[in-house]
Amino acid sequence: MVKKAINQELMRNTNKTQILKCIKEKQPVSKREVAEELGLSTTTVATFIKELQGEGMIRSGGTAQSTGGRRSVLYQLNSDFAYALGIDLKVDRLCGVLLNFKGEIKGVKEAELVDRDEWQVSRLLIDFIQGMLAENEVALSQVGGIGIGVPGVLNRERTIIEFAPNLGWRNVNLPAMLALEKPVYLENEANAGALGEVVFGAAQQVSNLVYVSVGVGIGCGLIINHQLFPGFLQYAGEFGHMTVEPFGERCRCGNQGCWEVYASNSAALRMYVEKTKQQQTTFQEFLHRGTKGEQPALEVLQTLLRYLGLGIANLINGLNPEMVVVGGELTAAKELVYHSLLKEIKARTLEKSFAGVRLEFSQLGDQAVALGMGSIVLDQMLNTVN
Ligand SMILES: [Zn+2]
Repeated sequence: MVKKAINQELMRNTNKTQILKCIKEKQPVSKREVAEELGLSTTTVATFIKELQGEGMIRSGGTAQSTGGRRSVLYQLNSDFAYALGIDLKVDRLCGVLLNFKGEIKGVKEAELVDRDEWQVSRLLIDFIQGMLAENEVALSQVGGIGIGVPGVLNRERTIIEFAPNLGWRNVNLPAMLALEKPVYLENEANAGALGEVVFGAAQQVSNLVYVSVGVGIGCGLIINHQLFPGFLQYAGEFGHMTVEPFGERCRCGNQGCWEVYASNSAALRMYVEKTKQQQTTFQEFLHRGTKGEQPALEVLQTLLRYLGLGIANLINGLNPEMVVVGGELTAAKELVYHSLLKEIKARTLEKSFAGVRLEFSQLGDQAVALGMGSIVLDQMLNTVN
């Protein structure tokens, strides 16, 4: 008997969640359309819609002509029901977006990250979250959850940052340190960026995507058949550490000749300093010099693109994706970069795989990861309705 009761409760939630998700996808939508889409009776749909409306998650708005000349009421998510915060914890700054329940951007915020000590960062995060809510006149009680994209490897339950080399962190329980009395969801930044592109950016409707995040290192997020591919222990996508030079430069992972040692922003800066004997500069400045036509910067950029293209070609040959999206500061110089990169990729990919793939640069710029995290929070909110 107990088991049956549980099953009924589960079925109820599944139907309710499905209806909510269907409304989100098709809004504004009528009861009949939801019922047809999900294969449920209109009575069942009507019951849940009444319940969802009573709880404030959806609202009616407008009517549509339906068969037989009757007008049917349309439903959509109630944008002010709750909010989701998505934050990109970068090595040098925080980027945040505040999304309403419908997934529309209500506010954005940035802050510099000077001290990478984990306690300093968690204090900064708390201030950042409070500041962002205050600026948009949203109370913490209206927030359904906070998603944080991190440049590192998470434990299997995604609650602890096991290793974030560029922050210098090991086994950091960030959700516990924040103690926000709200669910905090963590995800690797490349995975979050991939989701951001699928939900908001260049890869909408794309079922098989490789997202290549080029920054201090290189991380990849893989979407396979519409699902994020985490791998057995959640470590999938660490292509930044695939070997491209067997006797190459040492990488911070311990191996030598890793892809990110030759194709990341820090690789470009290392090569540029070696070539010019000038002082260390920023990647933006390096790109700016390339855009102005400075010869050493252009030469280093060509080397970088050769390695970046080589790695992406390997991914295309191995995974046969529908689209590859490149994210990172490099995309700011699209005009300068795109054709060289494409040429390199074409030279090294199998003809059929190349013919079937699209290469895009992120349209979301700095917000890809934060938007991806926001969409994870919204998804969790829909999955946990009761
Ligand atoms: Zn490595």
